[in-house]
Amino acid sequence: MTIQSKNPATGEVVKTFEALTEAQIDLAIAQSVVAHEALRDWSFKKRAACMEKAAKILEDESPCIAEIMTMEMGKTLASAKGEVEKCAWVCRYYAETAEAHLADDIVKTDATKSYRCYRPLGPVLAVMPWNYPLWQVFRFAAPALMAGNTGLLKHASNVPQSALLIQDIFQRAGFPDGAFQTLLIGGSQVEQILRDDRVWAATLTGSEPAGASVASICGEEIKPTVLELGGSDAFIVMPSADLDEAVKVGTTSRTQNNGQSCIAAKRFIIHADIYDGFKAKMVEAFADLTIGDPMDDATDIGPLVSVEARATIDGQVQKALKAGAIRVMGAEIMDGDGAFYRPGILENISEDSDAYHEEVFEPVALLFKVDDIEAAIKLANDSPFGLGSSVWTTDKAEQDQAIRDLEAGATFVNSMTSSDPRLPFGGIKRSGYGRELTAEGIRAFCNCKTVSIA
Ligand code: NAP
Repeated sequence: MTIQSKNPATGEVVKTFEALTEAQIDLAIAQSVVAHEALRDWSFKKRAACMEKAAKILEDESPCIAEIMTMEMGKTLASAKGEVEKCAWVCRYYAETAEAHLADDIVKTDATKSYRCYRPLGPVLAVMPWNYPLWQVFRFAAPALMAGNTGLLKHASNVPQSALLIQDIFQRAGFPDGAFQTLLIGGSQVEQILRDDRVWAATLTGSEPAGASVASICGEEIKPTVLELGGSDAFIVMPSADLDEAVKVGTTSRTQNNGQSCIAAKRFIIHADIYDGFKAKMVEAFADLTIGDPMDDATDIGPLVSVEARATIDGQVQKALKAGAIRVMGAEIMDGDGAFYRPGILENISEDSDAYHEEVFEPVALLFKVDDIEAAIKLANDSPFGLGSSVWTTDKAEQDQAIRDLEAGATFVNSMTSSDPRLPFGGIKRSGYGRELTAEGIRAFCNCKTVSIA
């Protein structure tokens, strides 16, 4: 099993790690149990003090942390710094709000007193992807630790240094030893942990096959899961929209994180009256993007995560072209070292092509033309995924219709889909189930206990 940091901008292997043995995993779970027994008895105030400290460490060490992420998976340094700041935000958000989210909730019944209270479960396994190496983990860890759970992290095998850094941050923040542990293991070692009685639940952010595997094992073990899977988000633009703004934001949404974001706008569904104008402006916006060294502040787009991923992704584009898609611009492998891919735009995408139904996890925009909002919503919903969605219109009736009928975990009006600690995050259909962030996120791994006193 290869666990290694390999710089996708250069192809250089920077560091390799040995996967943990079964015995080491067993010991880590035992430590997680001990840490949980301590943490569950801590006051919210004490947990919050550590979480605030974690936020401070993130802020103080942001440049170094960001460099490690950029080196391991190629996101631009500027976006990596933004990610670190967002992690500090989610730590503070839960430091400040966890107690209120988990407060006893009195319910009037025939009993003298009845209420629901929220108790932590215990060690929770988090299986996480490489695309936001810190954010995906903190989005789980901040609420989980504030609730009194402990975390076991199985991070993606290509971001081991980012993974180890997270454990180090929580340790230095003052949480009990073993409260948050990074396990350097491969996907095949996950089952041992899921079947261990001492592990209470699992959360997975990643692809459908990985999600289905974790959920089916947890199903057999009767353990709760949260799944945050892929997306093929629609970005609908109607004639009343501010076209320049829609193009600008749509370009950002599609190309953020070098095109590798679950909630990126992937399918641009444009009203026929403005289709040509939108396309022309988007071509200009894509042509303006600077592709290159992700460590350089002037760079908008760094490499894809690996040359192997790039080959798969390009295969998807080639198949779409064979099935009748038209290449408006770009969407091609770039020469030279590193996993660079030229951002592109395709139109006339056939319903028979994989790209129509699959997640396009690269900076390639798919354009579709429709005649009205009904057709736009119908096309948006013609996808196995249901993560985010974005609709651009100033027409109130169209906004209401989109909010009501789009099959997605979120609908953003005149803005791009994004995650925010103050709003729940998650998908429906094959994008997963359960919610992260806010009260929903912190309660996901709590026992909502009913108490009734006669
Ligand atoms: P991935 O291949 O599914 O990997 C995600 C994690 O699952 C990694 O830690 C991976 O470990 C592990 N894994 C893979 N197969 C497994 C199995 N059979 N059993 C247990 N663990 C397994 O996904 P990815 O390529 O890293 O991430 C990209 C995907 O994540 C995209 O589909 C994206 O949309 C989705 N995503 C969703 C969200 C969301 O919030 N909904 C956010 C970010 C990303 P190894 O690295 O060792 O294989």
